[in-house]
Amino acid sequence: LPTLSTQPTPPSRILHRQMVHALPVAVGGEGIELIDAQGKRYIDASGGAAVSCLGHNHPEVLAAMHAQLDRLAYAHTSFFTTEAAEQLAELLVQGAPAGTSHAYFVSGGSEAVEAALKLARQYFVEIGQPRRRHFIARRQSYHGNTLGALAVGGNAWRRAQFAPLLIDVAHVAPCYEYRDRQADESAEAYGQRLVAELAAAIDRLGGDSVIAFVAETVGGATQGATVPVPGYLRGVRELCTRHGILLILDEVMCGMGRCGTLHACEAEGVVPDLLVVAKGLGGGYQPIGAVLAQAHLVDAIAQGSGAFQHGHTYIGHAMACAAALAVQRVLQRDELLARVQRQGLGLSERLHAAFDAHRHVGDIRGRGLFQAIELVADRSTQQPFDPRSKLHARIKAHAMAEGLMIYPMGGTIDGVHGDHVLLAPPFIVDDAQLDQILLRLTRALDTALADLPRAV
Ligand code: PLP
Repeated sequence: LPTLSTQPTPPSRILHRQMVHALPVAVGGEGIELIDAQGKRYIDASGGAAVSCLGHNHPEVLAAMHAQLDRLAYAHTSFFTTEAAEQLAELLVQGAPAGTSHAYFVSGGSEAVEAALKLARQYFVEIGQPRRRHFIARRQSYHGNTLGALAVGGNAWRRAQFAPLLIDVAHVAPCYEYRDRQADESAEAYGQRLVAELAAAIDRLGGDSVIAFVAETVGGATQGATVPVPGYLRGVRELCTRHGILLILDEVMCGMGRCGTLHACEAEGVVPDLLVVAKGLGGGYQPIGAVLAQAHLVDAIAQGSGAFQHGHTYIGHAMACAAALAVQRVLQRDELLARVQRQGLGLSERLHAAFDAHRHVGDIRGRGLFQAIELVADRSTQQPFDPRSKLHARIKAHAMAEGLMIYPMGGTIDGVHGDHVLLAPPFIVDDAQLDQILLRLTRALDTALADLPRAV
């Protein structure tokens, strides 16, 4: 693999994600680019991991953060609330699906998923249904790396070594049209087949013992921008409602405008009981996530014990809320959702122009500025590459050498086989930058493919 910039000297004392690879040192950012210590610029075509929505160093977000810092950095939420947190909650509830009444702030996606799982369980205890103890989720999903979130997640390789520590969660098939819809099946019929599979899982566990079904509205890190087929999530919603089971939609990655609507579920015509957001909420300026809860859940707890039995030291952090508030105000004022739709079409058109005839691109999918290509050794059979070749890692390394940040991943199909590349550029990306992204991506992909060892 091509080597990148040098490691900091003396050698790093950080336990990095990858202990064997050197990382460039990020020293600056400007718009959609990050700059390393050597002055090299990287187009952030993945928004890190679908985080950066306004790009880097947005002056208004920085100003709002400076202003908050000058007033107050932090006040513990068991003693105080803050204006920044109150205003952010108000803004989020106004923009959330009908029936949403409250926001619960945490410091990231995994924490938000944990909070949603516990809120859901406590709700049933409060309303006298303590028998409900099961979660159902989907294979090949990602909900975070803390133990509860990892347990509901269906990413086989992430779970494998921790499996003995994870709560028992039933997993059903994800909505993965490219591989799982049968040739003679309509998209709608495929969606209903998935709903029937969920219904069977509910029946197996007993409908009155299930707390919630958990799913990413649009699949993200594990499968790469897998969009639900028409009617699938509506069918899921109806099924959950019929059994009194909560629907938790995880929009940590696909939400907060990334797919062209503020919440991805809007496009599906579905309202979850709990909506989990993070990444784009604060756009990377501060660590923040949130659970947006429907009134009936909050009311049940308010009229019952009167307290959600949860909390962390940094929930509702004033700096984090001030940054997210500024990000969301810019998003509204600059009408960036319309821009995501426009530039998303531009990205999709460019991907199709570049890869429709590419012998190793099997699928191009996504919504808004959340798009992916899935790579195959053979398009006619959809056969994936040998996982030992680590194609996804090669593409990432070549892209970084080209000055391009993308989010490739392996194990797309089953945790072992399959490779995809996820693109999630900041919402401010312009046409010329999209052209550059495609140019560098094509080069990185073709170099990686040309470099594959022959033996694998
Ligand atoms: N849920 C989804 C859908 C995600 O994509 C992620 C992260 O990629 C998480 C949860 C976990 O978020 P975090 O990494 O902020 O803990």
